[in-house]
Amino acid sequence: MQREQSVSNHKSACRFKSKMPSGKTHDAVTFFFTAPVFAAAWKFTENFPVSLAVAVAFLIGGLMFGPDLDTMSKQYTRWGIFRVFWYPYQAFFKHRSRWSHGLVFGTFLRVVYFMGMLTLLSFLAVYLIAVFTDNNLPDLLEYTKTWRQIGEFVRVNIGENAFPSVFIGLWLGAASHTLTDIAGTFVKTGKVSGFL
Ligand SMILES: [Zn+2]
Repeated sequence: MQREQSVSNHKSACRFKSKMPSGKTHDAVTFFFTAPVFAAAWKFTENFPVSLAVAVAFLIGGLMFGPDLDTMSKQYTRWGIFRVFWYPYQAFFKHRSRWSHGLVFGTFLRVVYFMGMLTLLSFLAVYLIAVFTDNNLPDLLEYTKTWRQIGEFVRVNIGENAFPSVFIGLWLGAASHTLTDIAGTFVKTGKVSGFL
């Protein structure tokens, strides 16, 4: 615990030097805006499951699916052992580049990356299970059918707009992060950093 504390102190010290708001600030901003995001979604859709999906996605977008997955960060460590999932992402995207922090590409690329990795890993899992149990590999058709069933389940239970709602929530969560980064840089340097 103490070690963890000192690590996080060290990290926020580093961030301060690099003129960025700390993970704590980002968390606070996320928590602060969750209720307003829910309220706005409710006002817009008057649909409870959709508003909830937007708000929960916003929380996740701010706390662990945000732009700082491109570096050693709170968001990154929150994935626990699954943080390895984001190794290639970190290797690929420079910290704070437009590809992770940009309002246009950031969330979109993270979702694409996430889906791609999920597909790859589930392929691998299915393959290993087949090898170890001597079963036949399910063919691609069967495989895509499973994905479609999952999609169908979500649509039936949350609604037709489930996926766009989640994306909007994630996008808002990441946008609040990027805007906080920009504000932090501006306060400390008087400069506005790029955000598209
Ligand atoms: Zn950041």
